[in-house]
Amino acid sequence: MDQLQQERLTVAISAQVSAEEMLEVTKDYVTERKAFGKPISKIQTVQHKVAEMATEISVGRSFLDDVIERHMKNESVVTEVSMAKWWITDMARRVATTCMQLHGGYGYMEEYEIARRYRDIPVSSIYAGTNDIMKNIIAKNMGL
Ligand SMILES: Cc1cc2nc3c(=O)[nH]c(=O)nc-3n(C[C@H](O)[C@H](O)[C@H](O)COP(=O)(O)OP(=O)(O)OC[C@H]3O[C@@H](n4cnc5c(N)ncnc54)[C@H](O)[C@@H]3O)c2cc1C
Repeated sequence: MDQLQQERLTVAISAQVSAEEMLEVTKDYVTERKAFGKPISKIQTVQHKVAEMATEISVGRSFLDDVIERHMKNESVVTEVSMAKWWITDMARRVATTCMQLHGGYGYMEEYEIARRYRDIPVSSIYAGTNDIMKNIIAKNMGL
């Protein structure tokens, strides 16, 4: 059971890094892609989507770094690891969906990195204990 914490933490780290990379790939894409004579990054609704993703990714990174630090100090972080696992993998799925959408039709093409990332990320909500099970653990540790 102790080892499961490390596995779940690794999945959270991997999803966090994936979300960060998807944001970078998409930032580059929306800056390059021109529609109606200007980069789509100049469209305010596109900017808002990117800003929302950057915010969620930043929140995930702060929480994750804290959990890693506490884990390395041998503190008990069973609840926090479960929180990080479910929230960050769900966040990465939201990021993948928005990034794919911002790529338009190219987002569906294998030639574009985001297509593969969009396909790969959902498994992180399933393996190492599903996200529903993570919530069961959190609730149990809250005495519910
Ligand atoms: C690519 C991949 C690699 C894997 N690698 C490994 C591995 O190396 N080692 C290993 O042991 N396993 C591995 N697994 C298995 C993985 O851990 C399980 O798939 C996962 O725990 C879910 O179990 P299940 O597939 O039986 O789904 P089920 O248990 O049938 O769940 C189906 C759905 O019901 C929900 N559910 C089930 N029970 C509850 C409950 N009590 N409360 C709320 N919701 C519930 C689940 O959240 C899920 O949404 C891997 C799976 C995949 C896809």
